[in-house]
Amino acid sequence: MNLMRHNTERIVAIISIIFIFCGRVWAQEDLVQYLMRIEGEEDTASSQITIYDKTILDTIDTGNKFIKILIFDDHTWDYLDLGKPDITDLIAEESWETGVIHSYNDVKLSDIPEEVTIVLIDSVSGYSAPYIAKVYSGFRVRNGREHKGVDLPLNIGDPVKSAFDGVVRVAKSSRYTGGYGNMLVIRHTNGLETFYAHLSKILVKEGETVKAGETVALGGNSGRSTGPHLHFETRYLGKAFDPVRLFDFETGELRDSVFALKKHYLNIYSHYGQSEKQSIASSQKLVYTIKSGDTLSSIAAKYGTTVDKICKLNNMSKNSVLRVGTKITVR
Ligand SMILES: [Zn+2]
Repeated sequence: MNLMRHNTERIVAIISIIFIFCGRVWAQEDLVQYLMRIEGEEDTASSQITIYDKTILDTIDTGNKFIKILIFDDHTWDYLDLGKPDITDLIAEESWETGVIHSYNDVKLSDIPEEVTIVLIDSVSGYSAPYIAKVYSGFRVRNGREHKGVDLPLNIGDPVKSAFDGVVRVAKSSRYTGGYGNMLVIRHTNGLETFYAHLSKILVKEGETVKAGETVALGGNSGRSTGPHLHFETRYLGKAFDPVRLFDFETGELRDSVFALKKHYLNIYSHYGQSEKQSIASSQKLVYTIKSGDTLSSIAAKYGTTVDKICKLNNMSKNSVLRVGTKITVR
């Protein structure tokens, strides 16, 4: 067999030149996404990709997950460098801590600017919806608890992908995460963190570098979960915002390569689909956590409102039992 050998840099340069000549700036990205996607898929025959006018028959692992060997239909082969993300800056951050779910504890909402521009992807980084499905439970208050992410129904064992390039900060089993079950937290090179919960199996380790689209876990039903699903959160400096602002989970598309994150997005009542005005109004809601001994009239008096108004806002009756720890909107 006539094997063609090239060094890695030359291959990347050649691939880049071919793609530039073809006018496909994103082509290398497509190829990387493709290779990440076929990982874990058994039947790849249906999805073919061609470079140098050759069809890739197979890809072979090299022991380094960022370098693959491509086998072509003319019995030649080449290395493909998928590009290891540079995470040096991430793990040098003061707030970098592996194994602890909630980082950035010292960041207050008042420290966060009204608007932050986040470059989600650039010419060398990609994206992937963690799982493609219709969201069945969104970012909102649910039964008096803040549900800080989206729930995506899946089958146990389905591949769950890293949303962007980054490094695994938390990879923990149910025993250590409470309701999240087996979970991952990935800190991304774009400045965001993503949470993946209720997993059946975790395929990466804390401190491991991952690429967008890499299968990092298998979906499951661990933790506080009433059926197999992925609970997925997007966070900025530890504060959650509606993940639907980034992804259309039904198609898997990223809504934009640059995301203007408004401070009011970090409020549980602000979600994708609202107008700017609605979102701001929602985020100015005042939420009160019921404490022992509270009554609706004592709360109403404290916040200068009435029992009737509180009942209407929370869709409850005057005789509702106030459970300690439940959150109600008072304004
Ligand atoms: Zn959830």
